[in-house]
Amino acid sequence: MKKPMTINIDMNSTKLEAQLRAISKHTKALADELCVINAGDVLHYPECGRELYVETYYNDAKPVVQMRQCPCGYRKAVNV
Ligand SMILES: [Zn+2]
Repeated sequence: MKKPMTINIDMNSTKLEAQLRAISKHTKALADELCVINAGDVLHYPECGRELYVETYYNDAKPVVQMRQCPCGYRKAVNV
């Protein structure tokens, strides 16, 4: 059986802030990972839900880099 994810939050405000920052950093990284996994499908930028405009660059007929852009200004080059 899968263990549920547990997050311990220390109510000391300085620590809490650092922990929240760490959590948000990890979820953002996870969202970026998911975008990579879904390469080839229609992509949505998780933070605003809009469809990403994806431009793929090829080298020797192999996809190398994807430039992903969202109408909100998000823009990222991803190695594929
Ligand atoms: Zn967006």
